[in-house]
Amino acid sequence: MSKPERWVIGNWKMNGSLASNAALLEAVRAQPAPAVKVAVCAPFPYLHQLQQALSGSDVQSGAQDVCEQGAGAYTGQVSAAMLREFGTSVVLVGHSERRQFNAESSELVAAKAAAALAAGLTPIICVGETLAQRQAGLAEATVAAQLAPCASLFAAASANVVVAYEPVWAIGTGITATPVEAQAMHAFIRAQLILISPSAASVSVLYGGSVKASNAKELFSQPDIDGGLIGGASLVAADFLSIVSAAA
Ligand code: PEP
Repeated sequence: MSKPERWVIGNWKMNGSLASNAALLEAVRAQPAPAVKVAVCAPFPYLHQLQQALSGSDVQSGAQDVCEQGAGAYTGQVSAAMLREFGTSVVLVGHSERRQFNAESSELVAAKAAAALAAGLTPIICVGETLAQRQAGLAEATVAAQLAPCASLFAAASANVVVAYEPVWAIGTGITATPVEAQAMHAFIRAQLILISPSAASVSVLYGGSVKASNAKELFSQPDIDGGLIGGASLVAADFLSIVSAAA
């Protein structure tokens, strides 16, 4: 059974410009830790810029969403095949901001992950509970329910799927789950994956939520945390590269 790979993935969210991206990509493409898989997930209009700026580097190009459909009358949507044409190799699905602002269900998220896999992309399946759910003692049940529709994907394609645990209360808030809190949920997720399929023990499980250069090392040293999904800190090259180094 192969061990989970180490990943650090930047999520630029709806930030960037051609000029600021160029400087950021120029710095990030010299990523300092070859053993860590690194990707940046940019808004759709910048995928061509990523394709060119990251050409010849080990840093992968990523998107922040994908349509579950292959083609047709889906105005405003982008298919997995289109992402592939622009050199994209990873895609976030089910980020909490999409679940919140676009009412994406866990079933839709699973369909998006399946479409990504079918096109040869690695879906980064994002899960996580809200503060209210945690305070009600429902954190594990929430995450288990979010993972459940993806069960067949974990069983069939565990080598090409990544899970990102992002407690909603920690995203963009500056509040990070403590290493102990994060490790406890990661161990739970790992156990859920193994219950679904023993081969899913090799699925990388990343932590996301206010990861910074100052807290990354301690989080990433937990036994079931295989790297991070990084929002705000991925927009500052020095911070992002320091987080990459912390995952090595
Ligand atoms: C995210 O957007 O996935 C994220 C984790 O954001 P931040 O690091 O800013 O909390």
